[in-house]
Amino acid sequence: MRLRNKPWAKEKIAAYPQYIIPQPEQYKGRWHELFSNGHPIHIEIGTGKGRFITEMAKMNPHINYIGIELYESVIVCALDKLIENDLPNLRLLNVNAKDLTNIFAKGEVKRIYLNFSDPWPKKRHEKRRLTYRTFLELYENILVDEGEIHFKTDNRGLFEYSLVSFSQYGLVLQYVSLDLHRSDFEGNVMTEYEQKFSEKGNPIYRCEVKYRK
Ligand code: SAM
Repeated sequence: MRLRNKPWAKEKIAAYPQYIIPQPEQYKGRWHELFSNGHPIHIEIGTGKGRFITEMAKMNPHINYIGIELYESVIVCALDKLIENDLPNLRLLNVNAKDLTNIFAKGEVKRIYLNFSDPWPKKRHEKRRLTYRTFLELYENILVDEGEIHFKTDNRGLFEYSLVSFSQYGLVLQYVSLDLHRSDFEGNVMTEYEQKFSEKGNPIYRCEVKYRK
């Protein structure tokens, strides 16, 4: 992603602690207190500008959503959407996914969305891919038993790599599409990247995988 320098982003994030939670580690094991209900929690890692998670939160008020994004200059766009919609079931975290197990307890998250994750095509950067085995292990440590990952991308290489990585980790493949927009899948919510790449004519790959008990 091309990052624009936004020196004001940090200040804006700090001005909305009710939406972008500062020191999220303090909620480990008690995210339900923050949402004041016992609804399931779904997280998106690499939320970007936030269209997907905002639309999902609007459509599904009985699910709590948490969008996780590393860069301040990007998450402020997701923040704008949350300010505009004031959704009680959506919160944002400006953190690195590497820290997930400091933030969530085992079993606190029901589903993880990975949308258009950075492909890191060079072999020497394999460990940075969000579907690399160390990330799959982190996810297992915060998900419920039989928790799910829903993954979509336009990057064929990353998709092929991820299917193998999921399989080697022992995840169960539940759904796969090699051309999501021409499939019978219903209720797809497009991300910013999805819109951009599908307009160029790229097929969108999508799969759902589940951890074993
Ligand atoms: N999901 C959005 C979409 O589909 O429009 C954004 C896709 S963009 C290619 C990938 C995003 O993941 C970037 O905003 C990047 O900063 C974020 N990201 C990458 N690695 C991350 C990590 N380890 N923790 C949190 N966010 C990460």
